[in-house]
Amino acid sequence: MDLRLPDAVASSFEVEALEAVLGQHVEVEGWTREMGGIQRAASVRHLLLPALHALVDRVGFVSEGGLAEICRRLDVPPAEAYGVATFYSMIPVTPVPPATTYACEDLACSRRSNSPSAAQQAGAGSHVVPAPCLGLCEQAPASLTVRSGRVVEHRVESTAPVRGSVPQQGDETLVLLRRIGTPTTLASYLANGGYAALQRALDLGPHGVVDEITTSRLVGRGGAAFPTGRKWAAVASQPQGPRYVVANADESEPGTFKDRVLLEGDPFALIESMTIAALAVGAERGYVYLRDEYRTALDTLTVALAEARGAGLLGPAALGAGHPFDIEVVRGAGAYICGEETAIFNSIEGYRGEPRTKPPFPVEVGLFGRPTLVNNVETLVNILPIIQHGGEAFAATGSGSSTGTKLFCLSGSVVHPGVYEVPFGTTLGQLLSLAGGVSTGRTLTAVLLGGAAGSFVGPEANDMPLTVEGTRAAGTTLGSGVVMVFDDTDDLGAVVRRISAFFRHESCGQCVPCRVGTVRQDEIVTRLTLGKRREGDLALLRDVGAAMRDASICGLGQTAWNAIESAIDRLGVLQ
Ligand code: SF4
Repeated sequence: MDLRLPDAVASSFEVEALEAVLGQHVEVEGWTREMGGIQRAASVRHLLLPALHALVDRVGFVSEGGLAEICRRLDVPPAEAYGVATFYSMIPVTPVPPATTYACEDLACSRRSNSPSAAQQAGAGSHVVPAPCLGLCEQAPASLTVRSGRVVEHRVESTAPVRGSVPQQGDETLVLLRRIGTPTTLASYLANGGYAALQRALDLGPHGVVDEITTSRLVGRGGAAFPTGRKWAAVASQPQGPRYVVANADESEPGTFKDRVLLEGDPFALIESMTIAALAVGAERGYVYLRDEYRTALDTLTVALAEARGAGLLGPAALGAGHPFDIEVVRGAGAYICGEETAIFNSIEGYRGEPRTKPPFPVEVGLFGRPTLVNNVETLVNILPIIQHGGEAFAATGSGSSTGTKLFCLSGSVVHPGVYEVPFGTTLGQLLSLAGGVSTGRTLTAVLLGGAAGSFVGPEANDMPLTVEGTRAAGTTLGSGVVMVFDDTDDLGAVVRRISAFFRHESCGQCVPCRVGTVRQDEIVTRLTLGKRREGDLALLRDVGAAMRDASICGLGQTAWNAIESAIDRLGVLQ
């Protein structure tokens, strides 16, 4: 693409598509950002990603003319806009065939080699593009088909409604999953206890809400296990001015699909919990940063948001007269790193989704330079039982410092894959039994906990309690709740090679240890698994891994070696 874009002109279709997005932009408190000495208004720059999506949705790709039109309207240099567009795998900048199928080649799907391939499922004439985890692991092998720039269908071997993803459905002990399978309307939500928590939150007031969260000892469910009450209190205590609430719904960790199930099956739970968060920290605006592969969740959430607005539960008086709150959904565009909280800010603001250095932390300087509360979807949904029944009641459940229940994503070689909710402290063996055990006739060889950024354990870990402290003591992690099971028919070398390829592909390239390290790691793992071992390869792999862990800017580089190291040390893979 010629980035001078001298005479490029957008088609009438492209102009129409952009008009729909750029004609309704929202001012963002006059915040500005220094770019090469020029102050650029953020009130338009944050429309860059939605504008790129508008072109892709309409014509399938971003043409020179379309990009030039965006640059003119948003006053963004073409090189910058091109740099943003090409950061994302789901924003093509060259013409694409009428149908494109994103075929999952990740861990849960690739092990189903006896099933029809994504290409076969997509049908004749579809252009098949290999893709990282689509978050449909319980229905593997999965793919996502886009026709003429419009997503029309998710294709899975056996298409299942979201209730099929919760094998425990009907179990009266469920807390977070209890509404999955009921209609996703406001009427149904209200009939099933919806908005009782917000009512109590309004009675408690902001300080009372934060106190309840602190008392509950809830920790973040996204992987870092940071105390949620401390985070909320930090945002609430910032000097007066705009603050934001961001729901991290960029669930891209391979093997994770619990947030998708919550969003598709219980969208008002997220809306209500974000409204409570807004009350607690004094925010008037919230964002759901949603991975673009979750199109069913996008539709469900969009309808629910409109219904909430229509009922006055969002909008000018959402938190009482004169206390507005509303929520906007921002679509990601196919970048694993955008699950990192500061990368989300850059992505929403219209920049490349690269993590920022910390400090300053988001509670002080976050989205649009303002104090921002970021929690993942599962963490936010936990707010409802805490506020409804009290922090002490919540803290009495679970085990030790891991309070409450936890959602786990079981996939791979289990009889009943799906999302399971169990109290913290349940052992790995008990969880596997709940899912029917390892596939019939197979023998368990390994379990990947926490996804690609997590680590492997062997069958001897069956008695390990699934708590933050229990897994830490065992040298592993709960991460985002991935429990991917492998049996004696799985080629664990190929699994490890897929993990190294994943990190090589997903590194944002901003810092050297990760940019170079993930490539070197993948090269060595490929040699070791394909019979091309060189002397010293294993030692070199350990050195590269240690350098990434010690010197990378963000969690991606710091964890890119974890699973591979555990496969070597615990499973004897690559030895
Ligand atoms: Fe980007 Fe990797 Fe550095 Fe994170 S560690 S900032 S993903 S290059």
